[in-house]
Amino acid sequence: MSENPNPAHPAEPAASGSRTPYIAGNWKLWGTRAQAAEYCERLLKLLAQPEAAGSAGRAGNGITSRRRPEVGLCVPYTALETVSSALAGSGVIVAAQNMHQAESGAYTGEISAPMLLELGVDAVVLGHSERRQLFGETDRALGEKVPAALEAGLQPILCVGETEEEREAGDMERKLRHQVQEGLEQVADDRLADVLIAYEPIWAIGTGKVATPDQAQEATSFVRALVGDRSKDAAERVRVLYGGSVKPDNAGEILEQADIDGALVGGASLDPDSFARIVAAAE
Ligand code: PEP
Repeated sequence: MSENPNPAHPAEPAASGSRTPYIAGNWKLWGTRAQAAEYCERLLKLLAQPEAAGSAGRAGNGITSRRRPEVGLCVPYTALETVSSALAGSGVIVAAQNMHQAESGAYTGEISAPMLLELGVDAVVLGHSERRQLFGETDRALGEKVPAALEAGLQPILCVGETEEEREAGDMERKLRHQVQEGLEQVADDRLADVLIAYEPIWAIGTGKVATPDQAQEATSFVRALVGDRSKDAAERVRVLYGGSVKPDNAGEILEQADIDGALVGGASLDPDSFARIVAAAE
């Protein structure tokens, strides 16, 4: 991380028009292989419908849109192969929900990047708040996982976000600065824009308490400015997602914010119909 005497300020003007929207569904601990296969079949049909035209291009129906969103599914390890073959040729991105930074070694229970690649995985969620809070994921480990994923050819989706107490204590920026700087520390400047960053306020995840559009814009703009402390060019290109109780009826106002390039969707992604409606809101 290069030194900047005035970190993260001022934010670069947003350039969301030039960034492709990205909507990822995070299934968390849901999805047997049978459920996964059924889900994918349903989702592909929905994405191919004209009203989901923004996503439909990913499903290969030939409809074009200037802001055609990329669509991704973050699924449990055991469903990866099923999902990857069910979605083959559709353009929908398949993501794991975690990985270990080492390729192999004495790390019982862990999964490495080459193992994911072998299953047809394109991306990996790193540092989801549930991994941080419930399973002891550290910023230090993430500082190794993010570049390991990139080097292996996986797109990292680095999650950051503050707790309610941190927000109330005025500590949001300090927390985000720490998480973004450590997570990206070992990533070369010219690869920064290959990382997707998901701003997910912990108080909004799975609680139904969505951040206001202004709160989400303020935080995502700050995250972009943190990337700008390393590289102005990367700050313009890096995609910053919002996550936290995104639903079909609130997605539009969140996604229209200048620094929000998409969403990481948990609960609402478990229903292909509501997920497809969120995708359509990103067009
Ligand atoms: C998530 O799992 O990353 C998430 C944002 O969950 P939810 O949409 O259910 O709040």
